[in-house]
This record gives sequence, C-alpha cells and structure tokens, in this order.
Amino acid sequence: MFSNNKRIYLSPPHMSGNELTYIQNAFDTNWIAPLGPHVDAFEKELASHVGVNDAAAVSSGTAAIHLALRLLDVKAGDTVFCSSLTFVASANPIVYLGATPVFIDSEPDSWNMSPQALEYALFDAVKEGKLPKAVIVVNLYGQSAKMDEILEICHTFHIPVIEDAAESLGSTYKGRASGSFGKFGIYSFNGNKILSTSGGGMLVSNDVEALNRARFLATQARDYAAHYQHSQMGYNYRMSNVLAGIGRAQLEVLEERILARRAVFERYYQELADLPGIRFMPELANTRSNRWLTVLTLEEKEAGISVEALLDVLAEENIEARPVWKPLHLQPLFEGGRYYAHNENESVSEQLFKTGLCLPSGSSLTEDEQSRVIGCIKKSLKAKSFSI
Ligand SMILES: *Cc1c(COP(=O)(O)O)cnc(C)c1O
Repeated sequence: MFSNNKRIYLSPPHMSGNELTYIQNAFDTNWIAPLGPHVDAFEKELASHVGVNDAAAVSSGTAAIHLALRLLDVKAGDTVFCSSLTFVASANPIVYLGATPVFIDSEPDSWNMSPQALEYALFDAVKEGKLPKAVIVVNLYGQSAKMDEILEICHTFHIPVIEDAAESLGSTYKGRASGSFGKFGIYSFNGNKILSTSGGGMLVSNDVEALNRARFLATQARDYAAHYQHSQMGYNYRMSNVLAGIGRAQLEVLEERILARRAVFERYYQELADLPGIRFMPELANTRSNRWLTVLTLEEKEAGISVEALLDVLAEENIEARPVWKPLHLQPLFEGGRYYAHNENESVSEQLFKTGLCLPSGSSLTEDEQSRVIGCIKKSLKAKSFSI
C-alpha cells in the first residue's frame, strides 16, 4: 500500500531555467549536432572550472572511461585495477576492451579505495610479473579518495590513474578539484548527478594531445580525408550541441547546487546523528564533498531495525531511498574475479553494503519533504527499539 504523499526522489534533475536560453540559441542557429559552439564552450568552461588544460564532452560518463582506457592502450588480456564499491559503469569499459578488472576494497575514512589494499594488489602483480595498465579510483557519493597516498603508490609502479569523478563534480581535495588528479578524470551528467544534461559526460586531462585523440576516437576515428577514411576503430561518443547548452547553464549554478546538497546533509545530521545505531558517511580532513548523496550506516542491533525494513517503511511513504552500491566483486557479472580486501579479516566495502543507506538528497528537496523523510526514520527507529 502506497501513501497518497507526493513521491520524494533520491536525486532528481534540477534545472535553473537558463538552460532554455541556450537550447533556444542552438535551435535559432540550427546547431543540432554532436558538435557546435555550445560543445566547444562547455568544454572550455568546465576545464577552467576544475583547473585542467582541456576537456572533451562526450555522450556519457561511461564513454569517457572507455576512451580513457583506450588512450592508455588497454587491450585484451590486460588487467585494470578498480574500486569495488561503485556503480558498474566504473568497470564495464574494462570488459568492453577485453581486459580483466581486479577489484580493490574501500578504507573506513573516505569509503573509497584503500591505499593499503592497492599496495597488496600491486606487490602481487609484481610477483606475478603482470602490472595493471591503469588504476580506476572512484570518488564515491561526492567524497574524494585519499589521492596523495594512491598517487604515490601508483607513481612508484608507474601506473596511470583514471579518476572516476562522476559523482564528485565540484568537490575538492586539499583545495584542488576532485577529478583533476589522475592522468585522466571523468564526470557524468546523467539525470541523477549533481548537474545533468539528461545524459552526458566529460573526459578531462592536462594532456591536450591525448584529448584531441579522444575527440578523434569519439567521432568514429575519421582520418583527415574527404572520402571517409578510417585506419582505426572508433566510437560515436560525442555530445550533442543541444545538451551541451543545458550543461553550460547547469555549470553556472554548480556552487549553489553544492551548497543546497550540503545543507540537506547538515539537516539530516542535526536531526538523526544522535539516534542509536546511526553513523553518517565521514568527510575526509582537507576535503570538501559536494554531498551528492547523504549516506549513513545503520547498525541493526543498536537501532532495532534493519536496513531492509527501514527501506520498506520509506517506500511505503513514497520516499525513494537506496542501499549503498553493491560491491562489484560480489556481482554475478564478475563472479570468480580477483578482489583485495582492506586487510585479512576486514572487507570494508562488504560491511558498508550490509549497513549503508542513501537518503533523498536532491538540491531541490524542500524542507517539508525532508521533514517527512526525517519523521519517518525517527518513528521507525523508536517503534522498533520499544517493541523489543
Ligand atoms: C553515474 C556514474 C558513472 C557513469 O556515468 P554515465 O554518465 O551514467 O555513463 C560512472 N561511475 C560512477 C561512480 C557513477 O556514479
């Protein structure tokens, strides 16, 4: 039975209104193509916003990861290390290229890649004489990973890093933009992300030549000739000029969107942090998370209610909440694959999957809507702890 309450979504798109001006301009000039002035401008504006030399606008974040791996010459038979606690899109492009992912656990301070587990994995790789072609580091729910430690390890072994910053646009690590640390960084503008172009992504790097090659690969690898000549396999991955227009208007309000999401987090924290069994996702020292989603863990013994039961109560109230990402090493798709835990008897990502819960966190969430979510959680925890 569903309540008559209006549905509260986890992270709906939030348009500013100015998008229509850019779309109108695309229509007026008839630039309705996967190239055009909005695409060029969006790339420049985003690159300057995150402080990198260049950016290539593409059709999705997944496409951006695929291109980054191609640029690093990942081929069939290679291995690529990847965070385990993430959305499947972080790892699918490894498989597109016939390579094999090796999954790395999280650590407790950032919930992101454990430098310790990464080091174990690399020592093993050295022993086996087969180093990975790349390491894909994910910045989960807006929180940056421990980039200094991870980059130091990867530099020691000369392994390039791809930063999957699909969820962390606008976040910073020691004052620098999340996504700007690796050889390549990627962002996503899917409908649920902090900025949305309905669908889209961006590949960023300080290597301008590499990004020119990315644009070439993303337009079917068309050689310079009038007669459609191709010497390499390419993709159709460029972003539409109409959608790039939406992206430009969205980028103008990025800071507002971050402040709104951080305020949503703050209010949940004020209202819920003292309840038994509830702990919020930490914010690593010297980082600023965009708080894309507010995420907490629930200890059933203390709270008197399980994550599943609480999700059911929220669903009955027409509130969309979700468990934390199911770690990729537990996915049927990657069964039998390799995984390195944080330490011998502690798999942090598995623990977070068992206890984690994502709450509605959109930048357009109203105080009334948020009060409904908070009220529902308080009621459920109380009811359960008194019924024992
Ligand atoms: C959304 C997301 C992606 C993929 O982005 P798309 O634009 O949907 O292809 C990749 N990695 C993570 C961590 C994401 O959350």
